[in-house]
Amino acid sequence: MEHLAWQRTVEQHREAVLCMVPPPAVVRRALDEALGLVLAVGATAPADLPGTRASAMDGFAVRHADLVQGGTLPVTLDVPAGARPGEGPGPGSAARIMTGAPVPTGADTVVAVEYTDIPRGPVPLPHQVRIHRVPPLGDAIRAAGSDVAAGSVVVAAGSVLDATAISALAATGHAEVSVRPAPRVRVVSTGAELRSPGQPLAAGQLHDSNSFLMAALARSLGHQVDRVSLQHDDAEALTAELPRLLHGTDILVFSGGASAGAFEVVRQALGGRGIGFGHVAMQPGKPQGLGVLDGVPVFCLPGNPVACAVSFLAFVRPWLDAAAGRGGQQHRVQLGQELGGKPGRTRFVGAVLREGRGVPAAARQSHQVTRLAGLDGFLVVPAERESVAAGEELGWLPLP
Ligand code: AMP
Ligand code: MG
Repeated sequence: MEHLAWQRTVEQHREAVLCMVPPPAVVRRALDEALGLVLAVGATAPADLPGTRASAMDGFAVRHADLVQGGTLPVTLDVPAGARPGEGPGPGSAARIMTGAPVPTGADTVVAVEYTDIPRGPVPLPHQVRIHRVPPLGDAIRAAGSDVAAGSVVVAAGSVLDATAISALAATGHAEVSVRPAPRVRVVSTGAELRSPGQPLAAGQLHDSNSFLMAALARSLGHQVDRVSLQHDDAEALTAELPRLLHGTDILVFSGGASAGAFEVVRQALGGRGIGFGHVAMQPGKPQGLGVLDGVPVFCLPGNPVACAVSFLAFVRPWLDAAAGRGGQQHRVQLGQELGGKPGRTRFVGAVLREGRGVPAAARQSHQVTRLAGLDGFLVVPAERESVAAGEELGWLPLP
């Protein structure tokens, strides 16, 4: 049996985690495949948008000098959306024009259809239009490039591509973008006592929730996830399964079997193979394993569900964020009510956000998996602190 490799603070362990982040990669992805990814190379507009002067209204394009309140102009031209920008209308005449259509070169103003005697709707091109309200010069015309000018940055490098960024890229003609690929994640729960949801339980057994928790957390962060439930504590069997578990993933995350008991499957199979096991000064989540196996970063989290959740947010998430190029945001939140506790280890306290303040949840024992539901995240109480007063700022690990 191998020895305890290290005893670390939470910060030291996170540093060890970040040392395992691979150098950044860049891939080209179709826009449909880019949601949630980080843009590696900033995208610029290749042309003005709108590309030409365009009408902001359905109406009539005219020369302002020709407008007279109650006056009538002949309609000599029809300009639907998609029409090529052209000449006209001649002096003293009007062009019917639709929203978004290019304003013909002769016109300097668009008169909304509401300001005329022409009804809205699919009516034939009228011979003339009577204008009963004269808009100011230049009204209802969008300048070319008034959305974005050619050459300007549309989405900056480092941005996480959300729905609006994707639409901005589409609007400026980018079918593909250069992004950081999101690492593929494999999560593996272990334990002879585990059964899958849907399976009946014998006395002493329980349903595997950790693999679902870890998979859902990683999916919420935009990762492709393979979820495995190993319902045994057999180190030889796990050793035999390792090549399959390491294949086709960028990170491997275990839950359970990482502490110093008699049947610690993960520790027995992986300890001494490049994975170090030790203690992190935290509550909950003290026993942890970490290392690289066949080039794949391997995280061994404790099996208690709350410890598993906290360890995922405190250690696995920073790796995922860094590897995906998302940049580790450190969140802080004001404490909503006084919090007592024993110093010595960093404490992670489940909490809900009320009016922007973190309010500790009533129950917090590490087996209370159903009490995780409804939490917004975990308050991080520094190891040296005893009690923390309401209104003080603490670190905050949000649940994604
Ligand atoms: P371990 O870290 O393997 O000693 O597990 C500690 C405790 O966490 C076990 O006794 C189980 O009650 C619980 N546990 C372990 N794995 C899971 C899991 N996948 N889902 C739910 N609870 C678990
Ligand atoms: Mg176990």
